[in-house]
Amino acid sequence: MDIRENFDNIKREISEACGKVDRSPEDIKVIAVTKYVTDARVEQAIEVGVDAFAENRPQNYLERKQKYSDKEWHLIGSLQTRKVRDVINHVDYFHALDRESLAKEIEKRAEDRVNCFVQVNVSGEESKHGLTSHETIEFIKGLGKYSKINVIGLMTMAPFVEDEDVLRNCFKKLRQLRDEVKELNLDYAPCEYLSMGMSNDYKIAIEEGATHVRIGTSLVGNELK
Ligand SMILES: *Cc1c(COP(=O)(O)O)cnc(C)c1O
Repeated sequence: MDIRENFDNIKREISEACGKVDRSPEDIKVIAVTKYVTDARVEQAIEVGVDAFAENRPQNYLERKQKYSDKEWHLIGSLQTRKVRDVINHVDYFHALDRESLAKEIEKRAEDRVNCFVQVNVSGEESKHGLTSHETIEFIKGLGKYSKINVIGLMTMAPFVEDEDVLRNCFKKLRQLRDEVKELNLDYAPCEYLSMGMSNDYKIAIEEGATHVRIGTSLVGNELK
């Protein structure tokens, strides 16, 4: 596992994808998902210049956020309401706001506004978390009463398929939804960003407007396999 080589490859692919659609690579944030790897790999990633990281379990998130506190940390993956209290005041970015009860709990426990992505289950797969596309707009409209919630964008996980058209469609839909939310001009929901694209599909996601790509396996590998 050569993380420098991986990161160079990813940066090159990002440049190419951006070139195709006339975007700037500077507008894409690469988030290294470190849930499958040990600290040594986190440290190698830091060494080669990765500056944003993500974990999906609150306990692991807290440990790493504390250990590598000068980096930007993203909490991805669904969050149980009872875990909010432990973790929320250490979260730089939260990618899985998917229900009102969670917004309510964040309101109760957070000391400052939390930068959130609302998670949308665009593909409608039952196994996935997130709101349906239909629910998303009403959900966000209802968040105005929570002063601690700042909706900076939308997040989705594409279905685990090879079919490029299916992936592209999924990302397109999230972008359209993002544009709809943006047009509402809500001060608590600027909704500028799109967190979409993982190891297998980030190039397509970028062509379709991703601003944040969450890359685990292709960047830092998977030591659990
Ligand atoms: C694990 C995970 C990723 C990274 O997956 P890879 O396929 O290893 O790149 C991205 N997003 C979420 C929400 C994840 O849970």
